[in-house]
Amino acid sequence: MRMFRKIFLALLMAAGCALLGAPAQAQDSASTPIVLENPHYWLARPLKKAASLSAAVGYPYGWHRNHQSPIHHGVDFVNPQGTPVLAAADGTVYYAGSDQERLFGERANFYGNLVIIQHNLEAPEGGRIFTLYGHLSYVAVQSGERVRQGDRIGAVGATGIALGNHLHFEVRIGAAESYFAVRNPELWYAPLPGTGTLIGRLLNADGSKALGIRVTLAAPKRALYTFTYADPSVPRDPALDENFTLADAPAGCYRLRVRGTALDVPVCLRAGQTVFVEARLP
Ligand SMILES: [Zn+2]
Repeated sequence: MRMFRKIFLALLMAAGCALLGAPAQAQDSASTPIVLENPHYWLARPLKKAASLSAAVGYPYGWHRNHQSPIHHGVDFVNPQGTPVLAAADGTVYYAGSDQERLFGERANFYGNLVIIQHNLEAPEGGRIFTLYGHLSYVAVQSGERVRQGDRIGAVGATGIALGNHLHFEVRIGAAESYFAVRNPELWYAPLPGTGTLIGRLLNADGSKALGIRVTLAAPKRALYTFTYADPSVPRDPALDENFTLADAPAGCYRLRVRGTALDVPVCLRAGQTVFVEARLP
């Protein structure tokens, strides 16, 4: 009997140790958020200050809207038809016109009227930086024309495959005409005044990338959300290896959460700050 009690106590102690170990494991599952000192915010928003300047939340870069749309290779700025579209940086117009006969996306007439600008900028990973502006109602520049940052290059529309008027904006590295040379545009422009940008890497418990997961940034009075890249093929920044971004989050402290899991990581963002966090789903 004593023997059994000893074994029982030993088992209980082992269980207790395991329980005590649990919080430490939970802490290990999320690295401390770090402030990025020199993000490559070399581009301006491609619209005037009066326009809607934040990317539409329902269809972020790398997400397919629950398979209702192609995986998004850019971000969308929803604005009325005719809203001026501006060059994001100095450069030369690489292409201006329709994609009816020249392929820039998944198929012909994908972007409708588009402009691609070749910038005098080299990405840190190597390769020329291009920006693409799609679904324009009209194009105000010609191929070969030099443009300065802020120059009007066209206007918002809904040409090509577009659900309503918006500017589809892409950043491409090294290959202007490659649909797969894209990067997340939110890694290339600074957060709006009074806000910060969160860049994240959300992993499954086994360390693989968590695909197409809704990520919430919750504060007492607001909740922001985005989705992780839906497919491993979505191009990432090689230095960051991120799989989601949440730009223009009002400065403040939040909890990074994923519904249905115990993930709960404190994240504070100051105005103008970019914070990187890696989190592992429990
Ligand atoms: Zn789009």
